[in-house]
Amino acid sequence: MRPSKRRILIRGGTVVTADSASVRDLLVEGETIAAVGKLAGVAADERFDVSGLLVLPGAVDTHVHFNDAFMGTVSVHDFASGTRAAAYGGVTSVIDFSNQRQGEPLLGTVERKKGEAAGLALVDWGVHPVITDPSPETIAGIQDVVIAGAPTIKCYLTYRQEGLMVDFDELKSILTALRRAGGMLLVHAEDNDALEENIPRLIRGGFVRPIYHARSRPPEVEAAAIRRLIDAARLTGGRLFIVHLASSEGIGLVASARKEGLDILAETCTHYLIFTEDMLRRDDGIKWICSPPLRTPEIRDRLWEAVRDGIISQVSSDDAAYSWKAKLLGVGRFDLCPNGIPGIEARLPLLYSEGVVRGRISLSRLVEVTATAPACMFGLAPRKGSLEPGADADIALLDPQAKWVMGQETLHMAADWSAYEGIPVTGKIVKVWSRGDLIVDGEDLIGEKGRGRYLHRVPWPAA
Ligand SMILES: [Zn+2]
Repeated sequence: MRPSKRRILIRGGTVVTADSASVRDLLVEGETIAAVGKLAGVAADERFDVSGLLVLPGAVDTHVHFNDAFMGTVSVHDFASGTRAAAYGGVTSVIDFSNQRQGEPLLGTVERKKGEAAGLALVDWGVHPVITDPSPETIAGIQDVVIAGAPTIKCYLTYRQEGLMVDFDELKSILTALRRAGGMLLVHAEDNDALEENIPRLIRGGFVRPIYHARSRPPEVEAAAIRRLIDAARLTGGRLFIVHLASSEGIGLVASARKEGLDILAETCTHYLIFTEDMLRRDDGIKWICSPPLRTPEIRDRLWEAVRDGIISQVSSDDAAYSWKAKLLGVGRFDLCPNGIPGIEARLPLLYSEGVVRGRISLSRLVEVTATAPACMFGLAPRKGSLEPGADADIALLDPQAKWVMGQETLHMAADWSAYEGIPVTGKIVKVWSRGDLIVDGEDLIGEKGRGRYLHRVPWPAA
């Protein structure tokens, strides 16, 4: 007879979902959640009394760059260090970008990531293919990656010199093919013509400090690209997802496009909600060079409102962990600094501290924008992002009273510097389960690398 599955009872915590927050018990059986409710008398192999703690669905981060070759360097988060930092931050599912190489069949982007993750991933992981070579063969390969469980593809409207950019006609062909295959197109929305005009002009004029990174990519550059994307959605009927939205104009454009009935979604990222462009005026301003750039306090506040009211559907980390040596390429030339901030671990505690504790969003909205909505939008629901019976037992316990100072000493990310140095935080992740395995217990990492599985994601049903 098969031995019965191991049962874990997590008792007395406040179970938070996208709809509610109330004191309930949670029973895990094997890899999945078996029951939620009053379960005092239920037999279990192991019990945890978690009264006073918040019981959250493990967070889902759909925007990370592991082993990412970009701007003369490679990100230091691989599948071991990246998913380890994720786990410490309460994240139990990640979706990584895989840039297509010139001439590479699109399916190769998924296969390569399987190779990179083998034996290393601590939590479950998926792939977004990034189209950089939109040949007829690539377009024909879209169906293949959707079938392979990667139904969300990304395109860049800039980074031409990095070999990442596609033009608008190419984007429309990709969007049309993806619509037929049931997938969604993620787009980095910044107008390349404006950037290729602004950046050399500023550099020639001697405006080389980090703040000019923001001046070279003002909100209008983002809005111009989003306007064209809305046209593309209108023309093709395809589903678009705007990554790292960071402008008031963009919020307005997305809101009106959705009112019009277009299939457009948007996210923002932790750093746009926490920092403003003032960070770029500091002597160490290169730390905060990312694209789109950090904005004004007014735009930051508008982004919080849009997260609260639902125009922005989720908050991801855009984890792009370049070494300090690589970031130093930007000293004296903002345009040479690898764009990106390590943030996979910081997201959930910071959004709790700056969002929930400060009254900007509710606890349920926090769960929705970090777990439930990403799982739904990216083809992982109902398995991930939920605490319903039948879902994977991916659970993060957060101590809402714990006070700590975020920074290089307290975080577990692999970069040798932190953009989040010295930030006082209320709320700390204290335990994390992934498919029923306790993988983080306080400061202890218990889960073994290599246990994370490929997330075969399913396309949304056609609208
Ligand atoms: Zn990114």
